[in-house]
This record gives sequence, structure tokens and C-alpha cells, in this order.
Amino acid sequence: MSTPKILILGAGYGGLMTAVRLQKQLNYNEADVTLVNKHDYHYFTTWLHEPAAGTKDPDDCRVDIKDLLDTNKVNFIKDTVMEIKREEKKVLLESGKALSYDYLVVGLGSEPETFGIQGLKEHAFSIRSINSVREIREHIEYCFAKYKMEKRPELLTFIVGGAGFTGIEFVGELSDRVPELCKEFDVDPSVVKIYNIEAAPTVLPGFDPELVNYAMEVLSRKGVTFKINTPIKECTPEGVVLADGEEIKSSTVVWTGGVRGNSIIEKAGFETMRGRVKVDPFLRAPGHEDVFIVGDGALIINEETNRPYPPTAQIAIQQGENLAQNLVAVIRGGEMKPFVPALKGTVASLGKGEAIGLVGDKKIYGNTAALMKKVIDNRSLYLLGGLSLVLKKVKL
Ligand code: FAD
Ligand code: NAD
Repeated sequence: MSTPKILILGAGYGGLMTAVRLQKQLNYNEADVTLVNKHDYHYFTTWLHEPAAGTKDPDDCRVDIKDLLDTNKVNFIKDTVMEIKREEKKVLLESGKALSYDYLVVGLGSEPETFGIQGLKEHAFSIRSINSVREIREHIEYCFAKYKMEKRPELLTFIVGGAGFTGIEFVGELSDRVPELCKEFDVDPSVVKIYNIEAAPTVLPGFDPELVNYAMEVLSRKGVTFKINTPIKECTPEGVVLADGEEIKSSTVVWTGGVRGNSIIEKAGFETMRGRVKVDPFLRAPGHEDVFIVGDGALIINEETNRPYPPTAQIAIQQGENLAQNLVAVIRGGEMKPFVPALKGTVASLGKGEAIGLVGDKKIYGNTAALMKKVIDNRSLYLLGGLSLVLKKVKL
């Protein structure tokens, strides 16, 4: 029998974890493993609110993929996936190459969910990659510089649409960065406005109310104005229009209103909900024993709440671990184990030295939570790249 071909698309938390675990567990020549990614580096998506605001260098949030791979065991191809042809068991790349597979792992992450809101795609930024956060950071600095020349208040009005965890973590960083920028550009801090606009009746809908209040207090103190119960209806080159008719002028709208699975999955003809495939217990797309989906593209229902688990890095990493084990089992003629998420909790940063979190049933705040956030960030470095990655990128 010929060597089975495993093709992994995307080197995010799910895809990269699958690759690094496969290279540990497979013997030489047991499988032909190929990883394809748009960039030759992996970025830490969970850190991206920091370089977006300018509180961290984008280069500190990425690592060369080759540093994490044993290229004798995993081939790496830097290319962009254009199409999955499931019937032909082929994947088409931007370079024109076509790759065939026996087992396909789709780990292409997510895209911003704009809910068809007019103008968002054209006029809003989103926090999704190293390139996108570089653009946000540069744009914010440009607005400060331009304000010095033109004195238009909208240049220093920053709108963050959506107060889920991404929105909250970003306004936390931005409110830390603003005093530095005011100093650098000789701007009176009282001119700068940060709005975090949320459609639901509360920020962080569904999260512990006491922790939500704590977060709002901390962030309000740092200069963030919350507008809750106020959906954004439209985004224009001049700013946003809210559902109640109010218009807020702003040169910077950052959309953090939610995500959907990568559109390549939907275009391949898989049945999806918000771009995510409801996978079976072994992370396979229904009706496709050879296609596995990890990370934000996989939808799994939490039986306790009867709602989908939120798309998180925590789950993506665990899926990668489970899937690598299962692929090795399949190749060796063994049994696969169902994927069961082991949720450890949620900790969200509110900027320097401040965070909130639920770890098990325990609520944590302030500096304790901020320390825990660093521990979590460093732990995922360890899981992906061992001690050498921790030593290179550790958060102190
Ligand atoms: P990703 O990690 O996003 O990786 C997808 C990969 O696919 C990328 O490398 C990308 O370059 C590649 N790719 C995409 N399209 C193509 C293509 N066409 N061709 C080739 N390659 C492609 N979750 C937590 O659990 N804890 C947190 O603290 C947390 N914080 C977050 C903070 C922010 C600011 C954001 C935005 C998200 C956060 N999340 C957090 C959510 C978490 O980042 C995602 O759930 C996680 O990244 C999903 O992993 P993934 O492997 O599906 O995709
Ligand atoms: P999300 O879906 O969790 O939150 C989006 C928010 O935008 C919601 O509160 C929603 O009500 C709001 N919204 C939607 N439409 C709107 C509109 N028209 N106007 C105003 N508000 C609107 O998305 P996210 O925050 O990007 O998070 C994505 C995933 O990543 C989630 O699963 C989240 O748990 C995870 N994440 C986790 C962390 C962490 O654990 N620290 C940090 C960031 C993200």
C-alpha cells in the first residue's frame, strides 16, 4: 500500500498543533504529511489586540513555521488555499499547484462576520492577522499626526464595534496606548474618544455579570465610553450610523462584532452554520470520512447548554491534539477517540495589569487575572513549540 497522504490547511492553533503532534507521534515514512499556510510564519491570534493598538511589536506575535517543524517529517508549503475539490480529493493553491490527499485537515480559521451590515467590509478594520493589525496600528498613528494639522475631532474618535472578548481586549490596550500617543504627538488627551458599541443589553453577553461590571468600571476609568443596546446599522467613510439613528463621526472603525468560518469551507459545498461545519465526534465533516475540520471552522454543540461551543484557541489546540492521535490510529489500523473539550476557563485582558476571568467556578480580577492571562498565553507557546518557543516569546 502507498504511504497515506495527510494534507493540513492552515498553520493556526488547530492546524499547527495537528502538524507538531503528528511529527512527534509518526515514525519516518509512516505518512506523507504536508502543511500549507498563507505565510511562512504562525501568528498568535490570541495576542493580536496588542499589536493592533500598538502596545506590542507585531514581530513579537509570530514565529517562523520552519522553527517548529521537523521538515524530514512534515513538508511545509507557503501558499494560499483557493479551493477544496472534495469529489476529486484535491486542493488548489494560488500558485496553480494542485495537491491531492488521503486525509484532509482544514484549519483555515475564521473571517469577520458582518451580518450584511452595509459598509463594514469597505470601511471598517478587523483584527485578524499580522498584516491587518499592522494596518490598524499605522492608521491610528497617522490619525494622530493628521489631527495636528487639521484639528478634526473625528480623527481622534475611535469606534470599536462589538463588545465581545475581542472588542473588550482591544479597547483595554487602546486606552493604554492613547496616553503614549498623546505625549508623542503633543495632543490634549481630553480630545481623544474611544467608543465601544454593543448591540446586546450588556457587554460580554452571557459572561458573569459581576466580572462584566468590573470590566466596565476599569475600562470606563481608562477613558472608554460604552454604548450598549445599540446595534451599529451602517458604516460609512465618515463613521457609523446606529440603529437609533445617531451618527458618530470617526476616521477609525474597528469591527469586532463576531466571526464566521473561513469562506473556503462553504465554497467547497460543505453544509455550514455561520461558515462552520457541524462535525462528528471525530471532527469529520458529515459524509466525509477523509475530511477533518479543526478550530474556528468546526462547530460542536455543548450538550449541557445545547448551544455551540464558542470558537476559541483553547478548543482549537485540544482538537489538534486529539486529531493527531486519531490520524495516527487510523493509519495504524487502530480506533479513534471522540473529541471532548476540556474547558479550563476564560480570562480576558483589560490592558496592562488588569483582566477578568472565570477559572473553573472561581472568579478572578485585576492583577491576579492579568498574571493568569500571561500564564495561559505562555502555556499555549509551550504546547505549540515547547520550551524553545517559550524562551523566544515568553510574556513576563
Ligand atoms: P487561526 O489560529 O486563526 O489560524 C488560521 C490559519 O490559517 C492562519 O495561519 C492563516 O494564515 C491561515 N489561512 C487562512 N486562510 C488561508 C488560506 N486561504 N490559505 C492558506 N492559509 C490560510 N481564544 C482563546 O481561547 N483565548 C484567548 O485568549 C483568545 N483571545 C483572542 C484574542 C483576539 C484578538 C482574537 C481575534 C481571538 C482570540 N481568541 C482567543 C480566539 C482564537 O484566536 C481563535 O479561536 C483561534 O485562533 C482559532 O484557531 P484556528 O486554528 O481555527 O485559526
Ligand atoms: P463575539 O461573537 O464573541 O462578540 C461579538 C460581539 O459583537 C457580541 O457581543 C455581539 O452582540 C456584538 N455585535 C454583533 N453585531 C453588532 C452590531 N451590529 N453592533 C454592535 N455590536 C454588535 O466575537 P469576538 O469578540 O470576536 O470573539 C470571537 C471568539 O473568540 C469568541 O469565541 C471568543 O470567546 C473568542 N475570544 C476569546 C478571548 C479570550 O478568551 N480572552 C478573547 C478574544 C476572543
